[in-house]
Amino acid sequence: MNRIAAEYVYNGKDMEPVRNGYVEFDDDGTVTAVGKCQDPETEADFRKGIIVPGFVNAHCHLELSHLRGKFRKGTGMSGFIDQINELRDFTSAENKKAAASQWIDALWNSGVSAMADISNCDDTFLMKSRSPMYTRTFLEVFGTEPQDCPGIMAGVRKLADAAASFGIDAAPTPHACYTMSPELVTAASADALAAGFLSYHSEESPEEESLLFSGTGPLADNYHGRHLSTPPVTGKPSLCYFVDRLLKVHEPPFREHVLLVHNVCLTQEALDYALQYLENVWWAVCPLSNIFIHDMLPPIGLMRRNGLKITLGTDSLSSNDTLDMVAEMYCISSSFPDVPLGEIIRWATFNGAEFLGKADTLGALAPGYRPGIALICNISPDGGLTAGSYSERVI
Ligand SMILES: [Zn+2]
Repeated sequence: MNRIAAEYVYNGKDMEPVRNGYVEFDDDGTVTAVGKCQDPETEADFRKGIIVPGFVNAHCHLELSHLRGKFRKGTGMSGFIDQINELRDFTSAENKKAAASQWIDALWNSGVSAMADISNCDDTFLMKSRSPMYTRTFLEVFGTEPQDCPGIMAGVRKLADAAASFGIDAAPTPHACYTMSPELVTAASADALAAGFLSYHSEESPEEESLLFSGTGPLADNYHGRHLSTPPVTGKPSLCYFVDRLLKVHEPPFREHVLLVHNVCLTQEALDYALQYLENVWWAVCPLSNIFIHDMLPPIGLMRRNGLKITLGTDSLSSNDTLDMVAEMYCISSSFPDVPLGEIIRWATFNGAEFLGKADTLGALAPGYRPGIALICNISPDGGLTAGSYSERVI
């Protein structure tokens, strides 16, 4: 029997911590007990800080790790796309893989036990198959021209076969409304739904909202300047358009696990429409990425008032200086001080595990779970996060 104790233990599900709590676990990491220390002074392994279950990073693009430090900040979505197009293939395949490999290890060592990761190619398949971290890979497609749809789908299905040969969980998924023909949104969504899991960049920027709503704005100008097709003008939030595309391939209700990522421009109208059809929907926020690209944050108050199941992700190093779940959590707690820390920890652990279909083993400190254990260090005297807080893996 192994035992670790700390000033605070959050189990990933409950809002309130156990003050001076302990966790006991088997040699294989399976949790056997969680409780309150009778006397912290007599604990053999008592740590300063907060014990939490291993994190679940709900949104990352590991294969873009080589882009760290390359992008200008505050460009908006149109400027971001220009930089991606310019820099994506700037470096060698070896350098790309080396950067991704370094960061999957850094994520693991910081206590990330599972991750929903986006891939456009096979660069990260081998390292994922070897990592102790559980990953589900979303093979993302984009393409604005309808006639390219069959070729793109044939390509991504080959990539899915390659992922299967590495033994990793993976399936196609659509990228976003503004990079895809309506036909491709539907085709990629059909494959994702058939696999049971879909991850989609939704309402990330005002530019994509105005593109869908009125066919205007910087993104519209960018695409027209490159002679690319743009999605239909709907006069509605882009999320309504996406749900309408899903309805073309699937009778409601949708019981598959759907993750809507970013939600910076989410409105009551859009979330009501999604909830009308999607029975198992999670809402990922990636606050540091949103600040990097748009200097905006998602409407956390609206999301909490509606009881949405929020998850937390780092996004990629093209739009973030680091991949650090505690930094994302601190961004939320400092920007939205009324959100209890226990709730943010749940977003960063249990809710992500639920989305990944792993809510019976990962994301919670409870008997029978095997979530990994992380320690958050450098907390404030009252048990909150600070700008200097960081995490390390205990097991
Ligand atoms: Zn992303």
